[in-house]
Amino acid sequence: MIIEQCKIIRNDEVAGGIWEMEFSAPEIVSYYTGPGQFLEILLENKWSFTVRRPMSIANVEEKRITIIYKIFGRGTKILSESKIGGILDLLGPLGNVFSGWKEKYVPILVGGGVGLAPILNLFKECQKYKIHSNLILGARTGREHFIDHDPSNGIFLTTDDGTLGTSGTVIPTLENVFSVVDNPMVYACGPLPMLKAVQDFVIQNKIPAQLSVESYMGCGTGLCQGCVIKKRNIKAKAHSYHERYSLVCMDGPVYSADEVCFD
Ligand SMILES: Cc1cc2nc3c(=O)[nH]c(=O)nc-3n(C[C@H](O)[C@H](O)[C@H](O)COP(=O)(O)OP(=O)(O)OC[C@H]3O[C@@H](n4cnc5c(N)ncnc54)[C@H](O)[C@@H]3O)c2cc1C
Repeated sequence: MIIEQCKIIRNDEVAGGIWEMEFSAPEIVSYYTGPGQFLEILLENKWSFTVRRPMSIANVEEKRITIIYKIFGRGTKILSESKIGGILDLLGPLGNVFSGWKEKYVPILVGGGVGLAPILNLFKECQKYKIHSNLILGARTGREHFIDHDPSNGIFLTTDDGTLGTSGTVIPTLENVFSVVDNPMVYACGPLPMLKAVQDFVIQNKIPAQLSVESYMGCGTGLCQGCVIKKRNIKAKAHSYHERYSLVCMDGPVYSADEVCFD
């Protein structure tokens, strides 16, 4: 993990409120190990803005990295106003990676909201290795989608308001895809209610699955202890913090579905 000053190559709004930014990051790319990893972006080097913002790596092409983000608050607003040629201060690559997808399983990839960034990254890696996977992407409305609904090629879009793809959440589509796939493994990233629903589904159906968790995060390096998530099924000793909790920045963001608890 290093800090690199990276030149912005592209910064476009690709769908309603969803932005895609590409920058040159040769040093960070040289440490990159795969989909799941993320960056911490320092948006203003001021005391009033000390905490970096975590963003998943959505694509790596030669020495360039792409992120996909949604304007959420002050930091992402500043990001959307960044100009081509400008410099971003990035810490990365951070976190672990999705695993098992090159093995015997058929990956079913599920992304919700901007949780699609690491999922799209994994989808592209599967394509690169000629591994057939199914991609299910959910959004609140059709305006937030920027790829085509293409079920014949295993790409399924859903929208809460029914304006594009299948109406409703990603779960009914996940059920349908699961019913026709032999030996599936589910990979998911998205808002907590979606992750919880995916977790319930895979545990009920005994499907191996990995979930990438977007908890509130500060430093990204284990110092601030801000990104704590509860572990599941632990035989915790009353006083053992480390057996009960995990830091998403250090142990994650990718967890086996039966490892973490969203309650
Ligand atoms: C591992 C990881 C990967 C992420 N990948 C992406 C991505 O690819 N695209 C994307 O749009 N967003 C992603 N997020 C969420 C993104 O980091 C927050 O939306 C963003 O930090 C909000 O910053 P802000 O200044 O605009 O909002 P503010 O509300 O001003 O942020 C205040 C603080 O809260 C934290 N915060 C607020 N919302 C979230 C959230 N949902 N998750 C985690 N921290 C939050 C921020 O880190 C910041 O410190 C990711 C989060 C994590 C933990």
